[in-house]
Amino acid sequence: MSIIKDFLLQLSLVVVPVGIYQAYLLGHIRIRKNINLFLAMLWGSSILLCMSFPISYGNGMHHDFRIVPLLIGTLYCGQRTGVFLSVLIILYRLYLGADAGFYSSLLGIIFGYSVILYFQKRFVSVSKDKRIKMAVMLSSYYCFVGASFVSMLRGVTTESLTMQFFHFGCAAGLAWLMTVLNENMAEIHTMRKELQNAERLRLIGNLTGVFAHEIRNPMQVARGFLQLLDTPDLSDKKKQYIKLSIEELDHANNIIHNFLTLGKPVSDGNENVDVGDQLKRAVTLMQNYALSKNVTIQTNIESDCLVHGNAQRMSQFLINIMKNAIESMPVKGTVWASCISVDGSQVEIRVKDEGIGMSEEEVERLGSPYYSLKENGTGLGMMVCYQIIKSFKGKLKVLSEQNVGTEVVARIPKA
Ligand code: ADP
Ligand code: MG
Repeated sequence: MSIIKDFLLQLSLVVVPVGIYQAYLLGHIRIRKNINLFLAMLWGSSILLCMSFPISYGNGMHHDFRIVPLLIGTLYCGQRTGVFLSVLIILYRLYLGADAGFYSSLLGIIFGYSVILYFQKRFVSVSKDKRIKMAVMLSSYYCFVGASFVSMLRGVTTESLTMQFFHFGCAAGLAWLMTVLNENMAEIHTMRKELQNAERLRLIGNLTGVFAHEIRNPMQVARGFLQLLDTPDLSDKKKQYIKLSIEELDHANNIIHNFLTLGKPVSDGNENVDVGDQLKRAVTLMQNYALSKNVTIQTNIESDCLVHGNAQRMSQFLINIMKNAIESMPVKGTVWASCISVDGSQVEIRVKDEGIGMSEEEVERLGSPYYSLKENGTGLGMMVCYQIIKSFKGKLKVLSEQNVGTEVVARIPKA
């Protein structure tokens, strides 16, 4: 009977922290910076409790499920947390006594756990189904290594062998259960986030619809008068100014138009877009603005960077991120803008500045509507950028360090 009691206690010591972890995860839409510390403590206490109240049987033999928090903690929180947890196990086992159990734990960590650490990076990058299989296999491997050392150091009896098998099966089952729970919870978490974003977009769509109409009318009037001003006796320079002004008004009009369709699927007006051409155009348009802020723009543009989507949107994206890059340098600086093909199948756009940069929290908030730290900012630019890159079926990444600079990287499949 006491074995069953011990077993049930072990189960709850493993399951309860996972429950707390998931409640925490679901309660926080944005993962906090110190979450890893919190999780390391959570898994750490689960391990210590498992080791303090093991399943005892025979003459002084024990089993516990410390592998489960150790495995889940390592796979989901990274190698640093993993190393912390394994050191914790060794130290606590040493505190309990430097007997055969200590040496088998130590050898288990060295030969069994090192493999888990090795596969941690792989685990993060594979699909859900593979993760579940990997977790079960890694936990079985660790138990097998541990059981081998225990048998070598303590000898084998029928009872110990039965218990080893029981432990083996339970650990694999628990690893499976915990990974499935974690994966499902993470899926729900992402869906909730997406739902919130969709709701925000819907709200913005409703609001802009009202304003856009009011802004378009005066713009049309201004455009009409500009056309009237464009008489043949004007100097070339003035003609050029008028042409640029009209182009810009048209562009603004298009932005409004695009903004109205933001959130709706974009299939209209898709064509092959040469990102290089668009980038050259955006640089020309931004040149005066950059000069007024003492910023120089350097480019590296490859030919044949064709992607499939809406050209206007691509141009809008490039202007938005270049504008942000220029605005991030209050005194002077350089913006590097490049577009190259990578892996033969993708186009990579990079815009890098040496401006004020952003903290991790600020980078996470990018793309939320009306999030702006500028006096006259709209806080809509980056949100539109994310949307545009999504419409090109690409990925957008922002790397930033405070007082060093920011780099925006977009990868889009080639047409
Ligand atoms: P806006 O430019 O109107 O403020 P954005 O959505 O374009 O709105 O940008 C949101 C915020 O993100 C900015 O206010 C700024 O604080 C930050 N940001 C964006 N790009 C950069 C950058 N390249 N360097 C530093 N901060 C940036
Ligand atoms: Mg902006």
